[in-house]
This record gives sequence, structure tokens and C-alpha cells, in this order.
Amino acid sequence: MIHINSKLDELNKRTTTAHELGHAVLHPDENTPMLSKSTIVSELKIEKEANYFATNLIIDKEKYFEECNYENARTYGLLNHYGLPEHFARYI
Ligand SMILES: [Zn+2]
Repeated sequence: MIHINSKLDELNKRTTTAHELGHAVLHPDENTPMLSKSTIVSELKIEKEANYFATNLIIDKEKYFEECNYENARTYGLLNHYGLPEHFARYI
């Protein structure tokens, strides 16, 4: 079960939902709150994996890249277009 804070704006709700879905698919046996207390390395790894999953779930790269020719503009414009934070650029 995934709970999303109803006070988040729509873009953050979508990003959070995609991130948590990533945990559900990639880490079905992990207890992320327990990991964060016990081992920061494992937490960072699974958080990166969930962010990677969310980025690639939300973004339709092929469609977007067909419409934009400049590398940086493509990356940050892509993130902006889909309402993702700039630090998600590493997952594209
Ligand atoms: Zn997470």
C-alpha cells in the first residue's frame, strides 16, 4: 500500500507515487524506514534505484528527444516538462 500526502501538489504526488511504485517493484522485501536507521549505504542505493525507476516511468524520452536538439536544454527541459526535480538528471 502506498500512501501519498494529499497536501502535495499534483506534480509531487506523481513523482512520489512513481518513486514508491519503484520501491514496490524493485524492493518488495525491503523495509525502507528500517534501512534508513540501520545502513545509509543500502538506503542510498535503493533510493537511487527508486528515483531511476520513477524517472523512466514518467518520462517518454523517445517522444521528447525527437522534439529537442540541444543536450542540456534536452535534459533540463525534459525534467521541467515532466515536473521532475533537476537532481533527477542523473537518472536520464
Ligand atoms: Zn524512497
